[in-house]
Amino acid sequence: MNEPAIEQGLRCGQVLLADGWASDQTVRFDPDGAIAGVARTVDADATFPKARGPVLPGMANLHSHAFQYAMAGLAEKTEHAGGFWSWRDVMYRMTNAVGPDSFAAVAAQLYADMLRRGFTAVGEFHYLHHAPDGHPYDAPETMSLAAIEAARRTGIALTHLPVLYAHGGFGGAPPGDGQRRFIHDVGGYAKLVSTLSDAVADAPDIRIGIAAHSLRAVTPDQLSDTAEMAAAASMPIHIHVAEQPKEVDDCLAHLGARPVDWLLDNHAVDDRWCLIHATHMTPDETVALAQSGAVAGLCPTTEANLGDGIFDAPRFLDAGGAFGIGTDSHVSLDPAQELRLLEYGQRLIHGRRGILGCGHAHTGAGLYRAAAQGGGRALGRKMGAIAAGYRADFVVLDPDHPMLTGRQGDTLLDSHVFGGGAIRDVYVAGRKVIDDGKHAEDASLKPAFREAVKALIG
Ligand SMILES: [Zn+2]
Repeated sequence: MNEPAIEQGLRCGQVLLADGWASDQTVRFDPDGAIAGVARTVDADATFPKARGPVLPGMANLHSHAFQYAMAGLAEKTEHAGGFWSWRDVMYRMTNAVGPDSFAAVAAQLYADMLRRGFTAVGEFHYLHHAPDGHPYDAPETMSLAAIEAARRTGIALTHLPVLYAHGGFGGAPPGDGQRRFIHDVGGYAKLVSTLSDAVADAPDIRIGIAAHSLRAVTPDQLSDTAEMAAAASMPIHIHVAEQPKEVDDCLAHLGARPVDWLLDNHAVDDRWCLIHATHMTPDETVALAQSGAVAGLCPTTEANLGDGIFDAPRFLDAGGAFGIGTDSHVSLDPAQELRLLEYGQRLIHGRRGILGCGHAHTGAGLYRAAAQGGGRALGRKMGAIAAGYRADFVVLDPDHPMLTGRQGDTLLDSHVFGGGAIRDVYVAGRKVIDDGKHAEDASLKPAFREAVKALIG
């Protein structure tokens, strides 16, 4: 995209600061897109644009598989009623059809749509590395570069997480046909990470992290190598864990411990780690994970879609756990929907309301703040608050939306979360990327996306 010039400040009639809502504040930015300071608006600020509604910090989307945006709704026949594993068969058919061009087209539409819904940064958990026959492309980083190009084009901040996927199952099992495109050994994976790190060195909104697909897809030694790589480079490290009961049973059979127990016992899991799903934990695992400082990467609409189960969020939050949200398979792209489903799952279990307020008097407002902060940590970004030193990523709500009528402060944020997202403008690193719901590239993104999806689904 033609990047709009970085504005040097934004006047805010109402803004959610780190210590609560404030009126008539001006947020100033550095040229690199970080917040330089926040102060009460004075006459000299009149040259800065005025936000056209209440201003929130941008939300992090900590878990995305971009290509799956092309298959929402395609695995909903009753023949797919077998849960996650039957859905995965459909997903593998899609993975065998995607090439660099179609991947870039789908990812660019996805990232523009994420921005429209208020996600200002995304963690792309990327394991679709090789050509459909399993051979590396001439440039092995080709598919990763397609994701990175989509982020550059749309302006979303990207933490690209190339994934080490070495085996088809526990015990070093060989990959199945649907997994040929995913496979690296540790040496090939380290080279990919190094190449990508060099490729984005000049792009502050794009950074590289580390990921292992799951405990079933890497051996203990391979995970140790991967974790060392992340620690040496101070990169975030992500892994799918305990999403399905079968995965827990297989882990007990092969490693002699439940997945989260095993990880906590065998690795220095700390605040650079993000454990995606972590759905099936004992109470002791839940508390231990919370105390480790790792972020729980929760994907409520995908977990509901796949029938995964419900994360024990009350116990985890009571123990001081940090969490963020991801849209994963992209059956929803709405942070508000992810947060309210997180809360509603608990209401339905416990028969009461207001369960996950994260220490705030307002449930929706507490959830939003906690997810924005935890998600930022998982992406290795200083984001999730409007304060000096944080990224100048903002969501401007639409004050004319009927659901926000007459609301102020945290009640406004509750209505945004529970009444439905109502977003007017979005800023990333001080640049306005969504203007009245529109992205500057919409006209070219949509035809390319439609063409790619039609070819993919035949
Ligand atoms: Zn995932």
